[in-house]
Amino acid sequence: MATHSDGILIAPNGNGHVNGNAKAPSSAVKQLPEEFYRDFLSIDAKTRKPSPIRGLFPLENRPGVISLLAGKPNDAMFPFTSFNFMVKSPTDTSKEIPVTLDGADLALGLQYGATAGLPRLVEWFTGLQELSHKRKKGEGWRLSVGGGSQDMLYKAVTAIVNPGDPVLVESPVYAGVLPMFETLHCEQIEVETDAEGIRSESLRSILENWPASKPKPKVLYTVPYGCNPTGMTASTPRRKEVLELARVHNFIILEDDPYYYLYFGKAERPPSYFQLELDEPEVGRVLRFDSLSKILSAGMRIGFASGPKPFLDAIDLHTGTANLQGSHLTQAITLALLEKWGYDNFITHTHNVAAFYKQKRDVFEKALSTHLAGLAEWSTPEAGMFVWFKLLMNPVGDVSAEGDSEDLIRTKAYEGGVLALPGTVFLPDGRKTAYVRASFSLSTEEQVNEALKRLRTVILKERGA
Ligand code: PMP
Repeated sequence: MATHSDGILIAPNGNGHVNGNAKAPSSAVKQLPEEFYRDFLSIDAKTRKPSPIRGLFPLENRPGVISLLAGKPNDAMFPFTSFNFMVKSPTDTSKEIPVTLDGADLALGLQYGATAGLPRLVEWFTGLQELSHKRKKGEGWRLSVGGGSQDMLYKAVTAIVNPGDPVLVESPVYAGVLPMFETLHCEQIEVETDAEGIRSESLRSILENWPASKPKPKVLYTVPYGCNPTGMTASTPRRKEVLELARVHNFIILEDDPYYYLYFGKAERPPSYFQLELDEPEVGRVLRFDSLSKILSAGMRIGFASGPKPFLDAIDLHTGTANLQGSHLTQAITLALLEKWGYDNFITHTHNVAAFYKQKRDVFEKALSTHLAGLAEWSTPEAGMFVWFKLLMNPVGDVSAEGDSEDLIRTKAYEGGVLALPGTVFLPDGRKTAYVRASFSLSTEEQVNEALKRLRTVILKERGA
């Protein structure tokens, strides 16, 4: 549970509001039994043994126990005495609010601790999931904090996927997951996407035509809001169909969602898979990844995974082997900030962030229309920080092939002073494509216009115009 700066304990209630009297929820949600996950855990996950020491950490908290257990350094020898920092007030960003991390809270941040993350931060994020996704504590899920969502995603993939397994990936796909599947020698089955996000019909067709002799894929990887690279947000009907297919064809949805809070579409935001599965007969097929990278800081490396306990336990075991725990110091700094702000201010901050990126999107799209009309095609992103556009680069009248943006973007555009990513980077099989990914997060209006003007010159030259 979170604490406001005045010390009152708060927790969000089922309506997404924050109140002071929330009780532990009764378990009204039906969940898949733990045995269900036996078939889903990888050999790697089943082989890992818990650390003989870390699992005993909670026993140190029993009053009267003298612990000779862990190799914890004595914090009397740590030089840090306090962290004092200023943060923007979300309700008036011209004002700054002081935050202090010291005493027992700082000591926790400086010391070894729980593998799943600082317990109070885990509680805060658990409350946030109830607020944002209506998932109540204790109802078929739990949460662990790690070094960014990438860290949790990689550990989740190795917890489920065995070498050589087929996996379903939306395509184009976040380039950062390709090495995870490639190093496991997975067959990556590409599920088509369009302006409405993942194409559930493509997924249905793949699964309904799956050869009977071949084991079915255990996971689908998807980025549902402001997808990296396409910028697209999956519609609610598509999401519902994907969930239904997950139930019928028995797979887990890896919902990688770092752009959830960067949604700025006109319509009401679609619910997450994590929320929508509450309408399923049983919950437990969604493993969700959140990130603070786009809303508080990318350098703090804080992300969290939420989902069925067996997967979270497997992720924690991996963490115990790989890096013992995430950085409890950046977690403690984050917690001090979040407890100072409270949920309301945090949500207000995310609205400010989304409004900022909407304005960036508008500037970029206007510049696209000004400089690349007739030379590129795109769909308007409603979340995130990317535009995915198709270059119409063939000489006028030549419709023989879609074209290939690789050389034009990687070499010619760069020589012309613009750096972007050719779309082939986001295709599991690395095939040619005329698409390009541009990020609109950093550039000023002037820079965007100059960049697209330069790109126009390069494209016109390529087309021989
Ligand atoms: N998933 C996607 C789709 C991303 O775009 C990114 C960041 N580029 C990540 C995961 C990794 O984010 P984090 O900083 O939380 O590790």
